[in-house]
Amino acid sequence: MLHLDGVSRHFGGLPALDRVSFAIPPGQVTALIGPNGAGKSTLINCITGVDTPTAGTVVFQGRPITGLPAHRISRLGIARTFQNLRLFPRISVLENVLCGLTREGGQSMLMAMLRLPYLRHRERLLKLRAMEALDRFHLSDKASWPAAILAYGDKKRVELARATVGNPHLLLLDEPVAGLNGEETAAVGEQLHRLRAAGHTILLVEHDMDLVMRLADRVVVLDSGRCIAVGTPDEVRSNPLVLEAYLGQ
Ligand code: ADP
Ligand code: MG
Repeated sequence: MLHLDGVSRHFGGLPALDRVSFAIPPGQVTALIGPNGAGKSTLINCITGVDTPTAGTVVFQGRPITGLPAHRISRLGIARTFQNLRLFPRISVLENVLCGLTREGGQSMLMAMLRLPYLRHRERLLKLRAMEALDRFHLSDKASWPAAILAYGDKKRVELARATVGNPHLLLLDEPVAGLNGEETAAVGEQLHRLRAAGHTILLVEHDMDLVMRLADRVVVLDSGRCIAVGTPDEVRSNPLVLEAYLGQ
């Protein structure tokens, strides 16, 4: 699905990513773990066009996407959540989720202006899909609320609804359960299990090792911008380099 080859990102002289190479196979959950500052979010940014690698290539479904702008990459079917939430605070929860349907014309100005019967019909269908996505995360009763007034845990789940509503080919999740309480974590975990069972391809950045070990088919470990291990959860758990990276924090 996705190939990273020698991806580096330097900030000033400092390498946040240093020649990272690995592949994300289709239909699997690949977990990306590593201590704080390892470069996990930077890597997601470099895949999604939020940031541009200083060197190396990103190939998605056989097509080089390195350096493409974020909106073009999103249209190819790569969706993400942000570690630090990025919802539009003033518009409704439902409208935030509709933004995840840009590939299907969910945000088209023309559609909004013309309001032709066919387009109104499409708009209704898109709203229905957005409502279904909210329902999956138990948020449909808050669909009309401005996003700004939601509690933190709800905002995290709106991000997930927005990222998943368009059935992306590749879903990149940056710490989806960070800051959630036990109940919320369990609910999100259950949704992620469902996505996995439905054959979605996911890159999961997460510190919650229980979740990682239960969900991931493969684990990639970053430390100081370098990929230090790739393997099954069991292989990675017993890898001395990985233990050292975590204990040395
Ligand atoms: P992680 O997500 O694994 O915790 P990050 O990708 O956020 O790590 O950060 C990796 C390194 O890159 C850190 O040292 C961080 O300070 C640095 N970094 C990230 N973004 C920027 C930026 N925009 N400018 C300068 N340094 C950055
Ligand atoms: Mg991060």
